[in-house]
Amino acid sequence: MKQKTILSKLTAYQQGKQTHEIKEEYGLEKIVKLASNENVYGYSSQVKNYLTENLPELNIYPDGHTSELRTALSKKLAVDENQLLFGSGSEEIIQIICRAFVQDNTNTVMAANSFPQYRHNTLVEGGTVKEIPVKANGEHDLQAMNAAIDEETVVVWICAPDNPTGTLIKGEEFINFMEDCPKDVLVVLDEAYREYVDVAQLLDSHTYIKNYPNLISLRTFSKAYGLAGLRIGYGIGHPDLVHHLNVVRGPFNTTSVAQKAATIAIQDEDFIRETVEKNRDVKNDFCQFLDEINWAYYPSYTNFISVSTPVSGLEMFQYLIENGFIVRPGELLGYPNSIRITIGNKEDMTELQEIIKKFIESNG
Ligand SMILES: *Cc1c(COP(=O)(O)O)cnc(C)c1O
Repeated sequence: MKQKTILSKLTAYQQGKQTHEIKEEYGLEKIVKLASNENVYGYSSQVKNYLTENLPELNIYPDGHTSELRTALSKKLAVDENQLLFGSGSEEIIQIICRAFVQDNTNTVMAANSFPQYRHNTLVEGGTVKEIPVKANGEHDLQAMNAAIDEETVVVWICAPDNPTGTLIKGEEFINFMEDCPKDVLVVLDEAYREYVDVAQLLDSHTYIKNYPNLISLRTFSKAYGLAGLRIGYGIGHPDLVHHLNVVRGPFNTTSVAQKAATIAIQDEDFIRETVEKNRDVKNDFCQFLDEINWAYYPSYTNFISVSTPVSGLEMFQYLIENGFIVRPGELLGYPNSIRITIGNKEDMTELQEIIKKFIESNG
């Protein structure tokens, strides 16, 4: 058949093995999944309580305008309702952006080896990608990214904090970038891990959005909010931009269950605060451990950490999976000889430290 020619060069997303498959394969009782940066503390109990008592009518299409969540979120964020765009995860918003902006003879600019969906969706829509190496400290090289923008550039992707490095850019660097960036190039600030950033380092995205109509910030309920299974995320941008993106959005792209859950989840600020505090404490402990064993890592502003390993990341992955821990080998993320570990709970991370110690003992 006559599918897009690019499809012969791309592959479908390869997901890791399901937990139950790994348990069977390695004969394990317990498996700790630290591979996808999900919230290891679950999600707000208020969401669970509400949904078990009041499941939405599943035979009815959802509200395609996402009205209730839209109103609640616009109040919480102090933005206008028409500045919000909802998607089946922020991943779908990346897809919507590419559908709306990318065509043949256009390109998008991203940090090399940052979130792969920017590249994938650009290519599917017929564009090319300029991947700009990160700086030695793992941060986006915003100056080099700016220099890479040309007449054909339609979108620049900035992942802050970045996946998989976990690093963050500074506000003043971002402002400089926006000042130099052509006004007709869309800048996507992917803030999937925003909730994990300390207030002192937090980007003032809301002011940036007011000042720059060519900027959109992407957020998700999949990470700190712990609702990855429901698939819901959103973008905040200028009403004109949101209007254009809505043209290519599917009419019922988020579910009634997801909309309701997200509406309740944003009211439960205690849950987010507790998640972030626990994550920070366990992360600090783990960094101290990494310092003791002398394994290098990028400073992380998220709920995961990218760590250099003395053997290949694939080998380390294999060793850890045999001991009941699933991580992501850096080889699959463009960072060889490293692994990306989601920060688990205290108990699991203590166990992980013991397992790594054993590895070091038996490997000199
Ligand atoms: C997890 C993640 C997303 C998307 O998550 P959704 O589940 O689609 O909302 C987007 N960007 C980055 C950098 C992520 O790590």
